[in-house]
Amino acid sequence: MLSTLRQIVEEISRIPVLEEALQCVAKRLQQAMAVDCCAIYLADYQEQNFILVATEGLAPEAIGVTRVGFSEGLIGLIGQREEPINIDDAQVHPRFKHYPDVKEDAYHAFLGTPIIHQRKVLGVISVQQKTSRRFAEEEEALLITLAAQMALEVANAEARGLLNIAEEKKGFRRQGIIGNPGSPGLAIGIGYSPVVNKANLKDFIATRTTKPAIEVSKYREAVVKTKKDIEQLTKRVEDEVPQDVANIFHLYDHLLDAASLGKAVEDKIHSGWSAASALKQVVESYEAQFSQMSDPYMRERAVDVVDLGNRVFTHLINIKSSLPPMPDKAILVAHEVTATMLADIPREKLVGVISVKGANNSHAAILARAVGVPAVMGINDVPASLFADKEILLDGYAGEITVSPDGQQKQAFETLITEESELQHLLSKEEQLPATTLDEKHIALFSNIGLSKTLQDTADDRAADGVGLYRTEIPFMQHDRFPSEQQQMQLYRNLLVQFRNKPVTMRTLDVGGDKPLPYFPFQEENPFLGWRGIRLTLDHPEIFLVQVRAMLRASLNLGNLSIMLPMVTSVDEVRESKRLIRQAFYEVSEEAAREQLSLTKPKIGVMLEVPAILYQLPKIAELVDFFSVGSNDLTQYLLAVDRNNARVSDLYDSYHPAVLHALNDIAQRCRELNKPVTVCGEMAGEPGGVLLLIAMGYDKLSLNSSGLSKVRWIIRRTARNELSDLLQSALECSEASEIKSLVSEKLEMLGMGGLVRAGL
Ligand code: PEP
Ligand code: MG
Repeated sequence: MLSTLRQIVEEISRIPVLEEALQCVAKRLQQAMAVDCCAIYLADYQEQNFILVATEGLAPEAIGVTRVGFSEGLIGLIGQREEPINIDDAQVHPRFKHYPDVKEDAYHAFLGTPIIHQRKVLGVISVQQKTSRRFAEEEEALLITLAAQMALEVANAEARGLLNIAEEKKGFRRQGIIGNPGSPGLAIGIGYSPVVNKANLKDFIATRTTKPAIEVSKYREAVVKTKKDIEQLTKRVEDEVPQDVANIFHLYDHLLDAASLGKAVEDKIHSGWSAASALKQVVESYEAQFSQMSDPYMRERAVDVVDLGNRVFTHLINIKSSLPPMPDKAILVAHEVTATMLADIPREKLVGVISVKGANNSHAAILARAVGVPAVMGINDVPASLFADKEILLDGYAGEITVSPDGQQKQAFETLITEESELQHLLSKEEQLPATTLDEKHIALFSNIGLSKTLQDTADDRAADGVGLYRTEIPFMQHDRFPSEQQQMQLYRNLLVQFRNKPVTMRTLDVGGDKPLPYFPFQEENPFLGWRGIRLTLDHPEIFLVQVRAMLRASLNLGNLSIMLPMVTSVDEVRESKRLIRQAFYEVSEEAAREQLSLTKPKIGVMLEVPAILYQLPKIAELVDFFSVGSNDLTQYLLAVDRNNARVSDLYDSYHPAVLHALNDIAQRCRELNKPVTVCGEMAGEPGGVLLLIAMGYDKLSLNSSGLSKVRWIIRRTARNELSDLLQSALECSEASEIKSLVSEKLEMLGMGGLVRAGL
């Protein structure tokens, strides 16, 4: 039975249209359970009823027509009670309601169970039999198991189905499709899905050749043309994105080299296959190899290989890749958006990006952020082609997409865009003014830096008091090997020079967890509790020493470097790190003396993000110059909620009372220890977070550069001594939601309600 269940669930996930997928379930379940009838209802929360969406055994004309109110009939009862109902004779049950359209008069035995996803009833699935009998426990267990397994698929399929059904069927309203925020911003545009008309190796049927020499030269010619295309694309993006992001294209170049793809293709041609056939086989085998790799970064590269293969193929069969006409405001949509697809679209026409697969740190997201285009990543297998030519509202802050919006939705979104730009304009007017509260308390505002665009000296960065967090792992992730000491030195020096005379806090490599290095893969059951941050680098002192030396050399004659250690759990880790930093300092100071350059001792700090550290503050304070609170990880580890797991994302909340108490304690303890402390997690960039943190006594905040003017604006309109009541009430709350309402009320009272919108 287990395999039948698995097959049914797999089938749903393969069928793109919701109603067809559910019809398939109804049919398969009716057969598998040998029942007379199976029916599936989905909840419509706007109309407050369940609509019959699939059936095998009830009247097919009732599909999409019959609706059962949330408090009506047996279906409504299952929804209300959120549990199965198993009755011998439905017709005599007091809650039975007769719906003539469905024609169920002949059925008596009834078993139904809710389909629940993340505590929300999505629908009800029921089976019925003509004879009057109670369904067996095993049958009940089977239906519950199926409903639980279906729930995620239904939630996903519902999103997929919305695209098709919304326009045609009354009863399915246009709702947002939720993905992951890939790059912030709002956009209205037309879906543009360029892969649709491109030459595709997958559809090519392999043929043999008797003239390998000719085929090899055809292949080489196609490679030369493809290399030229890539070169042009590289040039195009180079002007817009920093070098290390444009480096993505070098991977393509490597793959085209005779030593990788090329050799394998030519070998195949020599064994009798035509050039295109040889290419197809090699690309497919590379794709399979990449997609089976355990390392997610390497798995993602399978898409690059296929994209590249199709490019060579296009030249090989000599067709002009017939891209569909590009709308003026294009929202690029693809199954997996590649860097080349992005570069193919002129910047002035590209307003947004949707990648059906992919995550926050995939190349497409990195590039989208670098070119400043809003993006949504990872939308549960909704086929990209369904978006083509449709009007789309894209919210890169919330990771939400609305397809074919109605007039009201579009108008509301336009208003948001206008408000966003007006507000941005308003905020930017004060970006050069000091971040001082109404009662004259100066709050130092630092930039969080990592993605290279922010190295390009934006006005926001210039207005910052320095860099509070430079996430050095980002450039490490964008290379194909550990960057050399010289490469690192150059990168760090650029940053230190850009912020000359201002402090720059560089965090040592914080890889592991959700930040894998493509060239240093390892597998762990619990990566967030595993080999991460300082744990990894202390096990590899050679990596740590090279990095620290590069930082110190970069700081010669500048003296504005601070070094910060991530994921520290014990005093010993700090001692050992300091020993290595001393060793690197000694080596670089000898070099500096030889060349008569000055080397200033960097300040050394520790990130407060593992809860254990909160109980060792006095001991660690003796060893370091400053602390910085990583509220993102502190929240994750205090609440035992994986910050990247969508299933528990509702539980991940930095406004949880436990997190607030921890933050408040840290501020108090650091005051007692007389140790400077900054907050550098996302909370420091949220309007409500800023009020609470200032009330706790934090006077250094580090946040994404794009949020600096907003936070400055808030600070300039707030009196710190008037926030203590807010903090007191917040600390007495028992729910994050209560705390958030308190904070929102306060923001409203201060006339800052408009800023609450996430990420703005
Ligand atoms: C944090 O954990 O709050 C933090 C700033 O570091 P990261 O988000 O890079 O883990
Ligand atoms: Mg962290």
